[in-house]
Parts: sequence; C-alpha cells; structure tokens
Amino acid sequence: MPTDIKSLTSEELEAQFKTWDQPVYRVAQVLDWLYVRRVTSWDAMTNLPKAMREKLRGNYSLQTHELVRKQGSHDTTQKFLWRLHDHSLIESVLIPANPALYGDASDRHTLCISTQVGCAYGCKFCASGLDGWKRNLTPDEIVEQILSIERWNEQNAEREVRSAESPEDSTPHSALRTPRLINNIVVMGMGEPLANYDNLLKALKILNAPWGGGIGARKITISTSGLAPQIRKLAREPMQFRLAISLHGATDETRNKIMPVNRKYPLRELVNACEEYQHEKGRMITLEYILIAGVNDFIAETKPLAVLARKLHAKVNLIPYNKVEGLPWERPGEDACEKFLAALEDQKVTATLRREKGHDIDAACGQLRLKTEKELSNS
Ligand code: SAH
Ligand code: SF4
Repeated sequence: MPTDIKSLTSEELEAQFKTWDQPVYRVAQVLDWLYVRRVTSWDAMTNLPKAMREKLRGNYSLQTHELVRKQGSHDTTQKFLWRLHDHSLIESVLIPANPALYGDASDRHTLCISTQVGCAYGCKFCASGLDGWKRNLTPDEIVEQILSIERWNEQNAEREVRSAESPEDSTPHSALRTPRLINNIVVMGMGEPLANYDNLLKALKILNAPWGGGIGARKITISTSGLAPQIRKLAREPMQFRLAISLHGATDETRNKIMPVNRKYPLRELVNACEEYQHEKGRMITLEYILIAGVNDFIAETKPLAVLARKLHAKVNLIPYNKVEGLPWERPGEDACEKFLAALEDQKVTATLRREKGHDIDAACGQLRLKTEKELSNS
C-alpha cells in the first residue's frame, strides 16, 4: 500500500511537488484540506485541478480510522476503539480538561494516543502487553487519531445545531466550523512510544507544526516505561516535549517484579538518562506511580521514591490501579492511597493522587481492545 499523505511533512510534500513541476502554493492548499478542514477524500479538495487530485490519488493513500466502539459519555472520559486498514484495533482516550493533570486550565481536551498495536514490554499489570506486540503504528496512524476525534466532534456539533434549528433539516452545515477540540496530547495509550521512536517523532512534528496540528510541544507529554537510550536521544531533539516516566517502583527489586524492562535498563541507568533529559531541557519530569495492593503500596516504598523524586526535581502522580480482567492485581483501599500520598508529602515531595470516581476506563488503555478481540474470537 502506498504511503499515506499524512505521514509526510510540508517540506517532503514541497520536494515532491517540485519534481512534478507543480507550484509550491498547492502544498499549502493540500495541508489546509488535511489539517484544517480534515477532509477524508481527494475529491473533496475542490480547489485542486482534477489532474492533480488524480496524481495524488495515484501516489498516496488517504486513510481514516473506522470507529468500532465508544465508551463513556459527554463531559467524562471517553474511550474510542478504532479499526485500522489491516483490521488491527487501537484505542484513543479523550479526557476533559483537568488542570491538575498534564496541562493548563482550558476548556479544551486532552487526547491520549496509541503508538503501537499491542506492546512488547509485557509489564505484568498492563492490558496492552497481554497479547504481545503486533506492529508499530505509522506516523499517519498516530496523527489520524487526533483528526478522527476532531471530525467526530464536528459531526456531533453539526447534529446538535441541526436538531436545535429544525429536526427535519438534513442539509449539511458546511459553513459551520467547530474550533479545535484537542490542545493537549499525552502519549500514554497502547504501546511503548519510545520503541517506535522515528514514527512517533515524525507524527509529533506534524501535530506540532503550524501547518499541521498546531499543538505546542509543551502541551505534548510522552510516557515511557524507561527506555534509557531513547530518553537520551529525545533529550537531544530540538522540541520541548514533557516527559513522564512509568516508574511504579522505586527500587530495582520492586520494578523487576512488575516491569521486565527494568532488567534491561535498571533504575540507575534510567535515572541517569532522566537527569540528562532534565539538564538538556530544563523541564520538570513526572513520575507515574500506579498503586497496586500488596506490591508497591507499602509506606516503606515512599522513602526511596522520595529520594528519587527529589533527585530528579520530579512531581509524582499516584494512580490507583485499574483492575484488568484476567489479571490478579488489585487497587489498594482509599485509605492506603491517602496514606501513601501523605507520606510522600511529609518528605517534601510534590505529589498528586487521582481520586476521581468513574474514571475506571481512564488510564488503562488496552482493555477495550482486549475485550473486543475476545468477543470477536468467541463469536
Ligand atoms: N508504554 C508507555 C505508555 C503507555 S502505558 C508507558 O508504560 O509509560 C500508559 C500508563 O498507563 C503507564 O504509566 C502504565 O503503567 C499505566 N497503566 C497500564 N495499565 C494500567 C492499569 N491497569 N491501571 C492503571 N494504570 C495503568
Ligand atoms: Fe507496554 Fe507501557 Fe503497558 Fe508496559 S505499561 S506493557 S510499556 S504499554
């Protein structure tokens, strides 16, 4: 299958148009169709000559994600399950603005995106890694998660306007243009983003570019289970992404039990890489810490965790574990979570505890896919 046009940067498209002896201003028109109007067909690009549309059609694909399932409702966290061209399933999670989490106060939303189908890292508590790794997502498949959600949002808004004006009127409101919905991205969906480094960086470049997604690099958080060499590589990139480390244990002993990646890159190496990132970027790192009953929720664990957090000048996000069907791990009681938080604060660490109820679909990407795959194989 040809490369999807949304895997190309504007520079790459300009080079292509030059070899076709086409004026460069046409590239701006194409980018406008793709990222502002978010069209899904070549024929919709009406200000391009027909011959050029045919040329584009012959050289590139223009794929969209098919919505298979949606969980959650308006004003809460909503999870989207997409089917890709090879029938692989991936998830994206739309989270209403929450200033306490990863971004600033805003009336817009954060989108949690996937970077791989499955995951090779096999953390013991995680649904994404249960069936192993299938493949990397291409840059356009990463970018398209944002565009698909924005299109979905626009269609919903149009439907609402239409039913308010006249229930029988089914003519499309082409003049209606909903503003951008998403202004924060967290790369915390299915997959290990830094194991798909080149495609991830290209996708983020497109989402960050003024001609593309227009989302500031500081509004993009990349979460990793701890791939030290890639963290170092990321430190040398010009873009100022936020970095979150899925720590979940502050000693090698605890991390080795639940995260096989720690055997490859033990804590010492991971911490060195984080220090380098911080030194290069001058940016605060976030340490994610899922609280799992009887595994890493002992008060004694807060001591090495506080030492690490202070060393890295990092903030700690405590997340009560979301139960995964088929896995034995449990979330600790509310009391235990509050005590863990208080112990960290006593040790002068900036920490937050996710307390929202009904957010059980929130951080546990991979579960909807797993459930759907199971249902499909049983039917
Ligand atoms: N692979 C990357 C990004 C995807 S996982 C990483 O590991 O950082 C996103 C976050 O969700 C990670 O912090 C991960 O540990 C966490 N997570 C996975 N399963 C979870 C569960 N059942 N409950 C709560 N958090 C979970
Ligand atoms: Fe992969 Fe992250 Fe899940 Fe670990 S927590 S299996 S790295 S997706």
